[in-house]
Amino acid sequence: MKTDTILAQAGARRDPSTGAISMPIHTSAAFQHPALGQSTGFDYSRTANPTRLALEETLAKLEGGAKACAFASGLAALDAALSFFSSGDRLVVTEDLYGGTFRLLERFGRQKGLDFIYVDTSDNKAVLQALDQPDVKGLLVESPSNPFLKVADLKSLGAACKERALLFIVDNTFLTPFLCRPLDFGADLTVYSATKYLGGHNDLIAGLVVAKNAELGERLAFVQNAVGAILGPFESWLLLRSLKTLAIRLKRHGENALVVANFLRRHKGVKKLYYPGLESDPGHKTLSAQAQGFGAVISLEVESRARVESILSGVKVFMFAESLGGPESLVTFPLLQTHADLDEAAKARLGLTDRLLRLSIGLEDADDLIGDLEVVLS
Ligand SMILES: *Cc1c(COP(=O)(O)O)cnc(C)c1O
Repeated sequence: MKTDTILAQAGARRDPSTGAISMPIHTSAAFQHPALGQSTGFDYSRTANPTRLALEETLAKLEGGAKACAFASGLAALDAALSFFSSGDRLVVTEDLYGGTFRLLERFGRQKGLDFIYVDTSDNKAVLQALDQPDVKGLLVESPSNPFLKVADLKSLGAACKERALLFIVDNTFLTPFLCRPLDFGADLTVYSATKYLGGHNDLIAGLVVAKNAELGERLAFVQNAVGAILGPFESWLLLRSLKTLAIRLKRHGENALVVANFLRRHKGVKKLYYPGLESDPGHKTLSAQAQGFGAVISLEVESRARVESILSGVKVFMFAESLGGPESLVTFPLLQTHADLDEAAKARLGLTDRLLRLSIGLEDADDLIGDLEVVLS
């Protein structure tokens, strides 16, 4: 079945007792055993829940993975991926990544004895050099990265990890499996903040991890059950419902983003623009080769902090808020919001200034979005 079909029928045909087309929400904490030593496949909902399982199996199918596990948030999903490492291990990590991930690594990963080497993962040479450092056991890539939308060459990095027997993890939140399937390029685990495009409505917090092979999948399921940061049945159902429209949403998000990026490209108030959907962007070629689209997150630098403030207070269609991937277009100030937890040195090194804004392009009429930006940029 093609991706659009899997998505449209997410959760269907799973309840032969009623024929329900929409996957029922199973709230039961425990399940009756038919007899001693027998199980319906469900015993206790932390371990497995029918509604969550419908979601997890849909994701695994979409990605071509052996197993997917749903977690309470994207960060809980990332934390589960980190549990594959032990004290003394080092990971090579994308340097401009979601601030919450940075906080998780620095505050909790280090506590567990892990060490992190941050590199520009769009620079293959720099990554290879870091991978050859002693005790490196894994690579964690966010692509496109956050907030600079840098694109990692997943195929080359996948091959490099395979050669060195390293665990390759890709945070594919910005693209989703509809646009890119990192497991096809050699990733072992893909991680999602399903709060963003997979959920797609700014109305739930959720996370997912997909494992390439059965052995990794088993370890992942063990962690999910043993730690217990599971996604509840209601959110699992809401996410299944969201998946049904993922294809059409992402097509529209992408179309709108390209219109907005082309408008910003020509605007003299925009000093720097980051969007891999533009041919002039350094990541365009690589992303074209490994994805069916470019997503709908755009970052831009304007001339001054004062302009940032007037934009944040002046927008009428965009909303000043800290997320992405929903129907409503949002504008974020990474320095004080998503990336507040980066230390000053990291901010300076990355060029994360008080003139940088990040846009999440929603599903509104593109003319309204451009009109809004035209007013606040002029
Ligand atoms: C939001 C986000 C996360 C964290 O996910 P939550 O659902 O907020 O816990 C991780 N990675 C990326 C790329 C994100 O955008």
